[in-house]
Amino acid sequence: MSPESLRLSKSRYLSGLQCHKQLWWRVHEPEAPELTPTPGQQNLFSQGQDVGERARGHIPGGELIDVPFYQYENKVTATREALKRDLPAIYEAWFLADETYVGVDILERTSRGHTVIEVKASNSRKPEHLPDAAVQVHVLRRAGLQVERAEVMHLNPECRFPDLAKLFIREDVTPLVEAALIGVPDELAAQQRMLAGPLPDVPIGDHCTRPYDCPFLERCWPKLPDHHVSKLYRIERKRALELEADGYATIYDLPSDLELSVIHARQVKAVQTGRMVVEPTLARALGHFTPPLAFLDFETVSLAIPRWPGCRPWQQVPVQFSAHVEQQGGGWVHHQWIADGPEDPRPALAEAVVAACAGARRVVAYHASFERECIKRLREGAPHLAKELERIEKRERRPELGECLRERRLHHHPPGLHRLHLTRVDQRQLQVRGQVVDRRVPVGFELERSFALDPVQFADVVIGELGPAALDERTVVRRGAMLADCHVGQRPFEHPLLCRELVWDADQRRLDQRGDVLTHEQVG
Ligand code: SF4
Repeated sequence: MSPESLRLSKSRYLSGLQCHKQLWWRVHEPEAPELTPTPGQQNLFSQGQDVGERARGHIPGGELIDVPFYQYENKVTATREALKRDLPAIYEAWFLADETYVGVDILERTSRGHTVIEVKASNSRKPEHLPDAAVQVHVLRRAGLQVERAEVMHLNPECRFPDLAKLFIREDVTPLVEAALIGVPDELAAQQRMLAGPLPDVPIGDHCTRPYDCPFLERCWPKLPDHHVSKLYRIERKRALELEADGYATIYDLPSDLELSVIHARQVKAVQTGRMVVEPTLARALGHFTPPLAFLDFETVSLAIPRWPGCRPWQQVPVQFSAHVEQQGGGWVHHQWIADGPEDPRPALAEAVVAACAGARRVVAYHASFERECIKRLREGAPHLAKELERIEKRERRPELGECLRERRLHHHPPGLHRLHLTRVDQRQLQVRGQVVDRRVPVGFELERSFALDPVQFADVVIGELGPAALDERTVVRRGAMLADCHVGQRPFEHPLLCRELVWDADQRRLDQRGDVLTHEQVG
């Protein structure tokens, strides 16, 4: 590679600060597939650009260095020319020194020099913003500019649309940046030496995900064995690392006398015995779901610059819902609505939700707290429906925001018989439900034909899972409805999990205290 192509930039420097190996790959393999931005990353990038442009309006009178992104030399030259004109500010000012390019979002002229302003599309200042500002200050000073002050200009979480006059907060970070400057020259030199050599050997560690997820995680991190200890339900990373250090790589390796949470104990038992574990309280827990039910799911968008009345930066605003609603005479009706334009989606969405849930006695959601927040947001955007929405939210009479499926599993699947298979069951849930209600029907055979799975094994899964629950036909129907929601939303994998979760409500809390769910029982 040519010496020019090995030059550093602000973004390269920050990558190298996280990991030299990551930087080496970024520079030597710029076409690596891992570096192709995902749609989500593109969206964030585009919102960041919008924020950058909007920030310029808060420091008016400046001039934009409007040169194509990759023409670094031309941008440096144009900046040099702009500096001669004594402008109050320069936007996207570019400098080169110590073989390192930096672009400054806003360079503001002061009475005795300049202020470097780093614009961030976040609601607060973060530690990783400091080295970002520090490398800019270092390069500008090395290029001969008098830099007196450094600021991070971030979004103001208190700002509410339509009053965007206070959209930004400017924080003086000069003392912090001065302190961070100390290590910059050595680190720049180290990165440049490293880039001129072969791929460095860097062990994996915490730095792989801090401050950002490294795009090369899959290259460096070994593939985990099935049922690795990190797969214990919601286990903290630190705890999983401890178990590994103690010599327990997989759930199979965990000793019987290890102290575990109730949920982990259930999971370990299912994995180690290869059997499904179903708690005897499952049917009772499901019995609290009084029909008719509505299974509700929202999707939201978060905009850095708010667009609708009362919204703040990055507020989650519901833009879509889906609900499967149980009918009095049996059967289910699906309701849905999705925004398709720039208008405030909340009034129309609120009307659709209220109408969909009108006949439901309970409204059930996977993440009740999230759905409650969405309903609150709808109340703000559709005050004329506040009462109806409040009834849903607070469970007043009907409909009620039903108490939901929480992460307290009353049953757990044995190895190899979980997500994939249940997902397939979901796709044919009506058929499955009908068969399971009447146990005389050869469930296993039908499923085997449909999905090419071992019939005995599959019958064991389906009937085993529904063992206690199948005592109550209503329970089975409810479960089927949960399954029916499997394709809703952008994270469909969550929905197949519904049938593995314990239904939660106040009574269940009592059951926990009594220790009922502490007993493990195998069914199947
Ligand atoms: S995964 Fe970790 S070690 Fe590998 S390049 Fe990324 S940060 Fe470096």
